[in-house]
Amino acid sequence: MNANTVKLITEKLGLIERPKGVISGIYKDYYMTLKEQQKNIYVLVVQGNNKAECSQEDIDKFIDSIKGIQGVSNCVYDKRCLKVLIAVMKNDFSYLFNCVDMIVGFFGDNGFKTGCAHCDDVQKNVSLCGVYGTYEYVCDDCFNIIEEESKNKQPEKSPKKGNLPAGIVGAFLGTLIGAVLWIIIYNLGFIAGIAGLVMTVCAFKGYELIGGRLSKTGVIVSVIIVIVMIFFTNTLCYGIEVHSVFSEQYGGVSFFESYRIAMELVFENVEGLLGYFIKDLVVGYLLTIVASFSAIKNAFTDNGDTPSVSKY
Ligand SMILES: [Zn+2]
Repeated sequence: MNANTVKLITEKLGLIERPKGVISGIYKDYYMTLKEQQKNIYVLVVQGNNKAECSQEDIDKFIDSIKGIQGVSNCVYDKRCLKVLIAVMKNDFSYLFNCVDMIVGFFGDNGFKTGCAHCDDVQKNVSLCGVYGTYEYVCDDCFNIIEEESKNKQPEKSPKKGNLPAGIVGAFLGTLIGAVLWIIIYNLGFIAGIAGLVMTVCAFKGYELIGGRLSKTGVIVSVIIVIVMIFFTNTLCYGIEVHSVFSEQYGGVSFFESYRIAMELVFENVEGLLGYFIKDLVVGYLLTIVASFSAIKNAFTDNGDTPSVSKY
Protein backbone atom coordinates (compact mmCIF):
# COMPACT_ATOMS: atom_id res chain seq x y z
CA MET A 1 0.00 0.00 0.00
CA ASN A 2 1.57 3.29 -0.98
CA ALA A 3 1.61 6.35 1.25
CA ASN A 4 -1.09 8.17 -0.75
CA THR A 5 -3.47 5.23 -0.50
CA VAL A 6 -2.88 4.94 3.23
CA LYS A 7 -3.53 8.67 3.68
CA LEU A 8 -6.71 8.54 1.59
CA ILE A 9 -8.20 5.58 3.45
CA THR A 10 -7.17 6.55 6.98
CA GLU A 11 -8.54 10.07 6.53
CA LYS A 12 -11.80 8.90 5.00
CA LEU A 13 -12.51 6.22 7.63
CA GLY A 14 -10.78 7.81 10.62
CA LEU A 15 -8.52 4.79 11.11
CA ILE A 16 -4.76 4.42 11.44
CA GLU A 17 -2.05 2.36 9.74
CA ARG A 18 -0.98 -0.24 12.31
CA PRO A 19 1.02 -2.41 11.78
CA LYS A 20 2.72 -1.31 8.55
CA GLY A 21 0.60 -2.11 5.51
CA VAL A 22 -2.58 -2.69 7.53
CA ILE A 23 -5.27 -0.12 8.16
CA SER A 24 -7.07 -0.82 11.40
CA GLY A 25 -9.29 0.62 14.08
CA ILE A 26 -12.94 1.14 15.00
CA TYR A 27 -15.25 2.46 12.29
CA LYS A 28 -18.78 3.33 13.40
CA ASP A 29 -18.60 1.01 16.45
CA TYR A 30 -17.09 -1.96 14.58
CA TYR A 31 -13.53 -3.20 14.60
CA MET A 32 -12.16 -3.42 11.10
CA THR A 33 -8.90 -4.07 9.27
CA LEU A 34 -7.96 -3.53 5.65
CA LYS A 35 -4.92 -4.98 3.99
CA GLU A 36 -3.64 -5.01 0.43
CA GLN A 37 -3.32 -8.71 -0.30
CA GLN A 38 -1.84 -8.38 -3.78
CA LYS A 39 -1.45 -5.36 -5.98
CA ASN A 40 -4.80 -3.50 -5.93
CA ILE A 41 -6.64 -6.38 -4.22
CA TYR A 42 -7.77 -5.69 -0.67
CA VAL A 43 -8.99 -7.87 2.18
CA LEU A 44 -11.53 -6.09 4.33
CA VAL A 45 -12.49 -7.58 7.70
CA VAL A 46 -15.32 -6.06 9.74
CA GLN A 47 -16.01 -7.69 13.09
CA GLY A 48 -19.65 -8.03 14.13
CA ASN A 49 -21.10 -10.76 16.32
CA ASN A 50 -24.62 -11.86 15.43
CA LYS A 51 -25.99 -11.24 18.93
CA ALA A 52 -29.58 -10.58 17.94
CA GLU A 53 -29.51 -13.75 15.85
CA CYS A 54 -30.27 -12.27 12.51
CA SER A 55 -31.52 -15.09 10.26
CA GLN A 56 -29.12 -16.90 7.96
CA GLU A 57 -31.41 -16.02 5.09
CA ASP A 58 -31.04 -12.29 5.74
CA ILE A 59 -27.29 -12.66 6.11
CA ASP A 60 -27.07 -14.59 2.82
CA LYS A 61 -29.14 -11.93 1.10
CA PHE A 62 -26.83 -9.25 2.45
CA ILE A 63 -23.72 -11.17 1.34
CA ASP A 64 -25.21 -11.38 -2.16
CA SER A 65 -25.69 -7.63 -2.22
CA ILE A 66 -22.04 -7.13 -1.21
CA LYS A 67 -20.97 -9.54 -3.95
CA GLY A 68 -22.86 -7.31 -6.39
CA ILE A 69 -20.53 -4.38 -5.69
CA GLN A 70 -18.03 -3.69 -8.44
CA GLY A 71 -14.64 -5.33 -7.76
CA VAL A 72 -15.86 -7.71 -5.02
CA SER A 73 -14.75 -11.24 -5.81
CA ASN A 74 -15.64 -12.90 -2.52
CA CYS A 75 -17.56 -12.25 0.68
CA VAL A 76 -17.99 -14.58 3.65
CA TYR A 77 -19.39 -14.31 7.17
CA ASP A 78 -18.30 -16.76 9.87
CA LYS A 79 -20.51 -15.67 12.82
CA ARG A 80 -18.05 -13.00 14.00
CA CYS A 81 -16.23 -11.50 11.01
CA LEU A 82 -17.37 -10.41 7.61
CA LYS A 83 -14.56 -10.73 5.12
CA VAL A 84 -14.55 -9.17 1.68
CA LEU A 85 -12.04 -9.51 -1.13
CA ILE A 86 -12.24 -6.46 -3.35
CA ALA A 87 -10.21 -5.24 -6.31
CA VAL A 88 -9.67 -1.51 -6.60
CA MET A 89 -9.38 -0.20 -10.16
CA LYS A 90 -7.65 3.01 -11.13
CA ASN A 91 -7.34 4.14 -7.51
CA ASP A 92 -11.10 4.50 -7.23
CA PHE A 93 -11.83 3.53 -3.63
CA SER A 94 -15.50 4.62 -3.73
CA TYR A 95 -16.75 1.01 -4.12
CA LEU A 96 -14.63 -0.08 -1.19
CA PHE A 97 -15.92 2.76 1.00
CA ASN A 98 -19.46 1.96 -0.11
CA CYS A 99 -18.86 -1.65 0.91
CA VAL A 100 -17.62 -0.66 4.38
CA ASP A 101 -20.65 1.59 4.93
CA MET A 102 -23.07 -1.12 3.80
CA ILE A 103 -21.53 -3.60 6.23
CA VAL A 104 -21.56 -1.36 9.30
CA GLY A 105 -25.07 -0.25 8.29
CA PHE A 106 -26.27 -3.87 8.13
CA PHE A 107 -24.51 -4.76 11.39
CA GLY A 108 -26.02 -1.72 13.15
CA ASP A 109 -29.55 -2.32 11.85
CA ASN A 110 -29.47 -5.99 12.93
CA GLY A 111 -28.02 -5.63 16.39
CA PHE A 112 -24.56 -7.06 15.62
CA LYS A 113 -22.02 -6.33 18.35
CA THR A 114 -18.32 -5.96 17.71
CA GLY A 115 -15.90 -8.03 19.79
CA CYS A 116 -13.33 -10.78 19.70
CA ALA A 117 -12.97 -12.53 16.34
CA HIS A 118 -12.52 -15.92 18.00
CA CYS A 119 -15.09 -16.09 20.77
CA ASP A 120 -18.53 -14.68 21.43
CA ASP A 121 -17.48 -12.43 24.28
CA VAL A 122 -18.16 -8.85 23.31
CA GLN A 123 -17.24 -7.33 26.67
CA LYS A 124 -13.56 -8.23 26.95
CA ASN A 125 -10.75 -5.98 25.84
CA VAL A 126 -9.37 -6.91 22.47
CA SER A 127 -6.03 -6.26 20.76
CA LEU A 128 -5.13 -6.25 17.10
CA CYS A 129 -3.42 -9.51 16.21
CA GLY A 130 -1.80 -10.90 13.11
CA VAL A 131 -2.86 -14.52 12.77
CA TYR A 132 -1.14 -16.28 9.86
CA GLY A 133 -1.25 -13.21 7.66
CA THR A 134 -4.76 -12.00 8.50
CA TYR A 135 -5.38 -9.20 10.97
CA GLU A 136 -8.16 -9.41 13.52
CA TYR A 137 -9.07 -8.02 16.92
CA VAL A 138 -8.85 -10.81 19.45
CA CYS A 139 -9.32 -10.92 23.25
CA ASP A 140 -6.31 -11.79 25.42
CA ASP A 141 -7.62 -15.25 26.28
CA CYS A 142 -8.13 -16.17 22.62
CA PHE A 143 -4.77 -14.70 21.67
CA ASN A 144 -3.03 -16.87 24.25
CA ILE A 145 -4.81 -19.95 22.91
CA ILE A 146 -3.92 -19.12 19.30
CA GLU A 147 -0.32 -18.40 20.21
CA GLU A 148 -0.06 -21.66 22.16
CA GLU A 149 -1.57 -23.63 19.27
CA SER A 150 0.83 -22.07 16.78
CA LYS A 151 3.78 -23.09 18.97
CA ASN A 152 2.54 -26.68 19.21
CA LYS A 153 1.66 -26.84 15.55
CA GLN A 154 5.02 -25.97 14.08
CA PRO A 155 7.94 -26.52 16.42
CA GLU A 156 10.17 -27.61 13.52
CA LYS A 157 9.08 -24.76 11.32
CA SER A 158 10.63 -22.14 13.58
CA PRO A 159 14.06 -22.07 11.95
CA LYS A 160 16.83 -23.05 14.31
CA LYS A 161 19.66 -20.62 14.43
CA GLY A 162 22.47 -21.55 12.09
CA ASN A 163 25.85 -22.59 13.43
CA LEU A 164 28.54 -21.27 11.08
CA PRO A 165 31.54 -23.49 11.98
CA ALA A 166 29.39 -26.64 11.87
CA GLY A 167 27.86 -25.41 8.62
CA ILE A 168 31.30 -24.95 7.06
CA VAL A 169 32.18 -28.54 7.93
CA GLY A 170 28.86 -29.66 6.40
CA ALA A 171 29.43 -27.63 3.25
CA PHE A 172 32.94 -29.06 2.88
CA LEU A 173 31.71 -32.64 3.29
CA GLY A 174 29.00 -31.88 0.74
CA THR A 175 31.55 -30.69 -1.82
CA LEU A 176 33.44 -33.98 -1.42
CA ILE A 177 30.45 -35.78 -2.95
CA GLY A 178 30.54 -33.37 -5.87
CA ALA A 179 34.32 -33.80 -6.16
CA VAL A 180 34.05 -37.60 -6.44
CA LEU A 181 31.38 -37.18 -9.12
CA TRP A 182 33.56 -34.63 -10.93
CA ILE A 183 36.47 -37.08 -11.05
CA ILE A 184 34.22 -39.91 -12.28
CA ILE A 185 32.72 -37.76 -15.05
CA TYR A 186 36.16 -36.52 -16.08
CA ASN A 187 37.45 -40.08 -16.36
CA LEU A 188 34.46 -41.02 -18.50
CA GLY A 189 35.53 -38.27 -20.87
CA PHE A 190 32.59 -35.92 -20.44
CA ILE A 191 32.55 -32.26 -19.43
CA ALA A 192 33.28 -32.62 -15.72
CA GLY A 193 31.95 -29.09 -15.08
CA ILE A 194 28.39 -30.41 -14.91
CA ALA A 195 29.33 -31.86 -11.52
CA GLY A 196 29.63 -28.24 -10.33
CA LEU A 197 25.85 -28.23 -10.04
CA VAL A 198 25.86 -31.27 -7.76
CA MET A 199 28.77 -29.92 -5.78
CA THR A 200 26.97 -26.64 -5.07
CA VAL A 201 23.68 -28.30 -4.13
CA CYS A 202 25.50 -30.78 -1.87
CA ALA A 203 27.44 -27.94 -0.22
CA PHE A 204 24.21 -26.12 0.70
CA LYS A 205 22.51 -29.33 1.85
CA GLY A 206 25.58 -30.32 3.86
CA TYR A 207 25.62 -26.90 5.48
CA GLU A 208 21.95 -27.14 6.49
CA LEU A 209 22.27 -30.72 7.68
CA ILE A 210 25.07 -29.99 10.13
CA GLY A 211 24.95 -26.23 10.63
CA GLY A 212 21.21 -25.56 10.60
CA ARG A 213 19.65 -22.63 8.80
CA LEU A 214 21.63 -21.40 5.79
CA SER A 215 22.34 -17.76 6.59
CA LYS A 216 23.73 -15.10 4.25
CA THR A 217 27.22 -15.71 5.63
CA GLY A 218 26.60 -19.44 5.22
CA VAL A 219 25.74 -19.02 1.53
CA ILE A 220 28.81 -16.88 0.90
CA VAL A 221 31.17 -19.25 2.73
CA SER A 222 29.65 -22.29 0.99
CA VAL A 223 30.09 -20.69 -2.43
CA ILE A 224 33.73 -19.86 -1.63
CA ILE A 225 34.33 -23.48 -0.56
CA VAL A 226 32.73 -24.68 -3.82
CA ILE A 227 34.87 -22.32 -5.92
CA VAL A 228 38.07 -23.53 -4.26
CA MET A 229 36.99 -27.18 -4.38
CA ILE A 230 36.08 -27.02 -8.07
CA PHE A 231 39.51 -25.63 -8.89
CA PHE A 232 41.29 -28.19 -6.72
CA THR A 233 39.21 -31.13 -8.00
CA ASN A 234 39.91 -30.11 -11.58
CA THR A 235 43.66 -30.07 -10.94
CA LEU A 236 43.32 -33.43 -9.19
CA CYS A 237 41.78 -34.96 -12.34
CA TYR A 238 44.86 -34.04 -14.38
CA GLY A 239 47.14 -35.35 -11.63
CA ILE A 240 45.29 -38.68 -11.60
CA GLU A 241 45.50 -38.94 -15.39
CA VAL A 242 49.24 -38.23 -15.51
CA HIS A 243 49.81 -40.61 -12.61
CA SER A 244 48.03 -43.48 -14.35
CA VAL A 245 50.02 -42.92 -17.58
CA PHE A 246 53.34 -42.75 -15.67
CA SER A 247 52.50 -45.81 -13.59
CA GLU A 248 51.84 -47.82 -16.73
CA GLN A 249 54.93 -46.68 -18.59
CA TYR A 250 57.58 -46.20 -15.92
CA GLY A 251 56.12 -47.34 -12.63
CA GLY A 252 57.17 -46.10 -9.22
CA VAL A 253 56.31 -42.44 -9.77
CA SER A 254 54.62 -40.94 -6.69
CA PHE A 255 51.23 -39.29 -6.99
CA PHE A 256 52.58 -35.96 -5.78
CA GLU A 257 55.27 -36.00 -8.43
CA SER A 258 52.66 -36.84 -11.10
CA TYR A 259 50.44 -34.03 -9.78
CA ARG A 260 53.29 -31.54 -9.96
CA ILE A 261 54.12 -32.57 -13.53
CA ALA A 262 50.44 -32.42 -14.51
CA MET A 263 50.20 -28.83 -13.24
CA GLU A 264 53.30 -27.89 -15.22
CA LEU A 265 51.80 -29.39 -18.37
CA VAL A 266 48.49 -27.60 -17.82
CA PHE A 267 49.81 -24.18 -16.92
CA GLU A 268 52.46 -24.22 -19.63
CA ASN A 269 49.56 -25.06 -21.97
CA VAL A 270 51.23 -28.13 -23.43
CA GLU A 271 49.05 -29.45 -26.30
CA GLY A 272 46.33 -26.94 -25.44
CA LEU A 273 45.71 -28.56 -22.05
CA LEU A 274 44.99 -25.21 -20.43
CA GLY A 275 42.00 -24.76 -22.75
CA TYR A 276 40.40 -28.03 -21.58
CA PHE A 277 41.21 -27.18 -18.00
CA ILE A 278 39.57 -23.77 -18.25
CA LYS A 279 36.54 -25.13 -20.12
CA ASP A 280 35.68 -27.44 -17.22
CA LEU A 281 36.24 -24.64 -14.73
CA VAL A 282 33.98 -22.24 -16.62
CA VAL A 283 31.17 -24.81 -16.96
CA GLY A 284 31.59 -25.70 -13.27
CA TYR A 285 31.46 -22.08 -12.14
CA LEU A 286 28.51 -21.20 -14.36
CA LEU A 287 26.54 -24.13 -12.94
CA THR A 288 27.56 -23.04 -9.44
CA ILE A 289 25.96 -19.67 -10.11
CA VAL A 290 22.79 -21.34 -11.43
CA ALA A 291 22.60 -23.74 -8.49
CA SER A 292 23.26 -20.98 -5.97
CA PHE A 293 20.58 -18.68 -7.28
CA SER A 294 17.62 -19.91 -5.24
CA ALA A 295 19.70 -20.48 -2.09
CA ILE A 296 21.04 -16.93 -2.32
CA LYS A 297 17.57 -15.54 -2.93
CA ASN A 298 16.17 -17.42 0.09
CA ALA A 299 18.99 -16.40 2.39
CA PHE A 300 18.75 -12.76 1.40
CA THR A 301 14.96 -12.34 1.43
CA ASP A 302 13.75 -14.61 4.24
CA ASN A 303 14.99 -13.31 7.55
CA GLY A 304 13.32 -16.28 9.23
CA ASP A 305 12.02 -14.48 12.27
CA THR A 306 8.63 -13.20 11.11
CA PRO A 307 6.25 -14.64 13.68
CA SER A 308 3.09 -16.20 12.34
CA VAL A 309 1.06 -15.00 15.32
CA SER A 310 1.68 -11.58 16.84
CA LYS A 311 -0.01 -8.83 18.77
CA TYR A 312 0.13 -5.10 18.00
ZN1 LIG B 1 -11.91 -14.18 22.41
